[in-house]
Amino acid sequence: MLTDRFHRVHDYLRISLTDNCNFRCSYCMPEEQITLLPKAQLMQADEIFAIARTFADLGVKKIRLTGGEPMARKDFADILAGLSRLPVKLAMTTNGVMLDQYMANLQQAGLTSINISLDSLLPDKFRKITRRDAFARVWSNILGCIAAGMHVKLNVVMMKGVNDDEIAAFTELTRKLPVHVRFIEFMPFDQNRWDRGKVIGSAEVMEVVAQQYALYKLKDGKNDTDRKFGIMGHAGTLCFISTLTDSFCATCNRLRLTADGKMKNCLFGAEEFDVLAAFRSGADIAPVIRKAISRKHERLGGQFNDYRELQPGQLDNRSMIRIGG
Ligand code: SAM
Ligand code: SF4
Repeated sequence: MLTDRFHRVHDYLRISLTDNCNFRCSYCMPEEQITLLPKAQLMQADEIFAIARTFADLGVKKIRLTGGEPMARKDFADILAGLSRLPVKLAMTTNGVMLDQYMANLQQAGLTSINISLDSLLPDKFRKITRRDAFARVWSNILGCIAAGMHVKLNVVMMKGVNDDEIAAFTELTRKLPVHVRFIEFMPFDQNRWDRGKVIGSAEVMEVVAQQYALYKLKDGKNDTDRKFGIMGHAGTLCFISTLTDSFCATCNRLRLTADGKMKNCLFGAEEFDVLAAFRSGADIAPVIRKAISRKHERLGGQFNDYRELQPGQLDNRSMIRIGG
């Protein structure tokens, strides 16, 4: 078991497959041309399998593939197939634009649930946020996943003045469609134009919803970061992820591996632990993983307490696209 100083058991690993992406979301990546990691620095497919196996041996029960855009990686299908042989539940977070190409692979790998990012229901605004004209494809793929019987979660990063006028539209979506809309607070990362004035707290979003809809509480899992609500007569649900205004660090069970094989024990943590270098040197990587766990801070990577006191650029961290969300 991977237990930290605060008795938190860590059994959920997020693996970033690439720092590359076919979208350019403004809240996720720096504005200037990004330099991608050289291919040789990325974990290769066989390295991913071996490293993931060690995590599974140490008690990890669930692995989420992320990025960058996980499906932008050319050997995505092989990686998926390899990981599906491990005794873990597989999940993925994606921008959804390539889902139609990999649906059969995902089903063969046993994926029954998928998180798809969708910050606007308006094609023009979607294009402005992602800097790609891809709303129609993403939407069609969302409907394809629903038709295939998948549990579909929609990740919506709420930003003041950008998409806060669409709270009702996203809520309305859950009336007929069995989708689970997750309103996520806008978080600060390296060069992502964050400022606290753009944050809309979950409580505020919930208030807007409650003006028109009667929410009732649904049961959350013990390590869930989203607080789930139903609306009478709706096929889908709403969830609120309040990372900044009401953080869920006390029940955190997450670990992260970046595409270049560095372990991060917290999304906001500055420290990185080089699992890939240890692996390539032929060393046992278990001690590196255990060291990373032992150094985990109680809250928010030990970098801040109250987001209202944060200045843009203050945190020592990578950009989200290079961490793996
Ligand atoms: N490309 C995939 C996608 O967009 O879903 C996976 C990687 S993306 C980094 C993972 C998740 O992080 C997405 O749901 C995205 O919306 C979220 N994300 C990125 N930057 C964020 C930020 N600054 N605040 C909150 N969520 C963010
Ligand atoms: Fe790409 Fe996802 Fe980041 Fe958007 S949020 S730039 S789709 S990694």
